[in-house]
Amino acid sequence: MPEIKELQYLKGVGPQRAKLLETELGIKSIDDLLHYFPYRYVDRSHIYSVRDLRPDMPYVQLRGYISGFQTIGEGRKKRITATFADNTGKMELTWFKGLKYVENKFSNKPNTEFYVFGKPVFFGGKFSIVHPEIDEQNPMNEMKVNGLQAMYNTTEKMKSAFLNSKALQTIMYAAVKHLQEYPQPESLPEYLIEKYRFMRLNYALRNVHFPVSQELLKSAQNRLKFEELFYIQLSILRKRIHRENNTGGLLFPHIGDYFNRFYKNNLPFELTNAQKRVLREIRSDVGSGKQMNRLLQGDVGSGKTLVALMAMLMAADNNYQACMMAPTEILATQHYLNLSEMLQGTGVNIALLTGSTKKKERDEIHSALRNGSLHILIGTHALIEDTVQFQNLGLVVIDEQHRFGVEQRAKLWSKNDTPPHILVMTATPIPRTLAMTIYGDLRVSVIDELPPGRTPIQTYHYYDNKRESINNFIRTQVQSGRQIYIVYPLIQESEKIDLKNLEDGYEDVKKKFPEFNICMVHGKMKPAEKEEEMQKFVRGEAQIMVATTVIEVGVNVPNATVMIIENANRFGLSQLHQLRGRVGRGSNQSYCILMSPYQISQETKQRLEIMVQTNDGFEISEADLKMRGPGDMEGTAQSGLPFELRIANLAKDEHILEFARKVALEILQDDPRLEKQQNSLLPVQLAKMTHIRTDLSEIS
Ligand code: ADP
Ligand code: MG
Repeated sequence: MPEIKELQYLKGVGPQRAKLLETELGIKSIDDLLHYFPYRYVDRSHIYSVRDLRPDMPYVQLRGYISGFQTIGEGRKKRITATFADNTGKMELTWFKGLKYVENKFSNKPNTEFYVFGKPVFFGGKFSIVHPEIDEQNPMNEMKVNGLQAMYNTTEKMKSAFLNSKALQTIMYAAVKHLQEYPQPESLPEYLIEKYRFMRLNYALRNVHFPVSQELLKSAQNRLKFEELFYIQLSILRKRIHRENNTGGLLFPHIGDYFNRFYKNNLPFELTNAQKRVLREIRSDVGSGKQMNRLLQGDVGSGKTLVALMAMLMAADNNYQACMMAPTEILATQHYLNLSEMLQGTGVNIALLTGSTKKKERDEIHSALRNGSLHILIGTHALIEDTVQFQNLGLVVIDEQHRFGVEQRAKLWSKNDTPPHILVMTATPIPRTLAMTIYGDLRVSVIDELPPGRTPIQTYHYYDNKRESINNFIRTQVQSGRQIYIVYPLIQESEKIDLKNLEDGYEDVKKKFPEFNICMVHGKMKPAEKEEEMQKFVRGEAQIMVATTVIEVGVNVPNATVMIIENANRFGLSQLHQLRGRVGRGSNQSYCILMSPYQISQETKQRLEIMVQTNDGFEISEADLKMRGPGDMEGTAQSGLPFELRIANLAKDEHILEFARKVALEILQDDPRLEKQQNSLLPVQLAKMTHIRTDLSEIS
């Protein structure tokens, strides 16, 4: 067989399929094809009998005869049914698509033994398989595989062109055969393969598509997963090391009066050990002469704001300005009020800039920023505007960073000639594996300890039939002086209906509790109106606040002890956790009540159950990652995963990832520019990783 250079010339491909593979899956070459990995494997070594079928079985393989073809129905309901029989019983086969093909291929062969493969469903008293895979001889023999058949994801378009998993497997077989004759050069350095006893590339590719055994499949997957994660880590860490060695950073050498005065006179409580540790980490960064890029993770209520404030005081002590950007006006305003109160008597000047800051005040802020008299600016993305110019911006704090886009962050970053130090904070804890990949080039600090004296929030999941007792509970809580949040989902697609739900809910609550004051906040209100309603609650004039998720981040009313979430089934885990974090901020026992209709999926039930079981944001985010996968997680969905992983799975391959990161770091510490002979393959491989963007966090 001569070497094939173009995918279309591979056996079973041809120009049309080659095009389809490219447009649908981005596969352009034989090499791409070989790196299109199965999403799972089915054991086809076993042949079932019809008699053995059970309703809950996964995919099964049967051997027998097909007869009794019938075309039924008209138009879109038209289908073919046939009877499949082995010597233990009969079942039905059904096709809705490709009817002509099925008829031509199978209907006149009642004496041929077929292998039939698919998922049996039990319906109307009998088993049937819809769209079974059918072979005249055992496909395993042909492919020389011991029973494990790879399954590939395909798209609707591919399926309708008969390029399904099975067809892909046939093509893959040709690709693997070609690979045996024309092996690919190794893609990991020789010394790594030897040191860690990795399976070699060509054998791994063969085994991942056509496993010789379970054990060899496992080794093949390990090697390929390692390789994928290793190059991502190498790329991220190389950039970080390069940046740290090459961009100058502003130097904050002293701790001065502002910081000390605040610490001695104004700090209302002891810092937690975790807060102290993080402050030391920040201190060491800003004193290093290199630019700080630090991600501060800490659960809701762990006291991140205070750490940020003290970092901003370090800037002020060294004659630099600082700013802090928050995602909503409510939150920015609250930070401002909170921080200006804490700073009283320290001589630190602080201002608030949002979309609704009046022109006159805005002008004053602009000039105070330019002449350096303003030390700290708090705001929303109004901070990013070009008209906002600092005299010497030294530190940028970004609160709830997952809510900002990359470009917005990049603009803040460029507001000083030497880039300012960056501290990004998030209360949507990201599982370690994700943090290492998405924010791999940021240093990560974690506040893993809540301030003392907090009583854990009690969480319950109730169905709508519990309304009455919940209303009684609300009443007793308010009567003992507490405040209540009632939150309704408001998501983009069904905004109008949701807004109506919210308003109906508000009317409802007013009727149920005529003796209480009730306020309402949602995103569609004018900022001033929103602020006024918010303040009613903050001042304690309103006992119940009906709201949407605008209150999700940061709002702080320590007297509020009950968070009721309506239709909790419509919220994601991390959102629920954020919402719950609005209570439990004072010394009173707090409660979170998740309301849902009876009819919810098993998965939703599981999600709510996790909330009931744990208050720990990290545990919740791990669970979220496992249930939804990294791409759909809140906290990453907005900014997006910077790459698609082809084989590794961040929820399952944590150990491989940690190992890959460790190996990458060791190599870079020994050879930061990857110039040594033994590493010569590495830059070549990195240059090939065009499908992976690792520049995302650089401008976080
Ligand atoms: P988050 O990490 O969610 O942003 P905050 O910074 O808003 O949390 O802090 C939550 C509350 O805890 C605030 O009322 C804050 O004043 C308080 N707090 C912060 N640090 C401490 C501490 N060390 N001891 C006691 N209370 C603290
Ligand atoms: Mg906060």
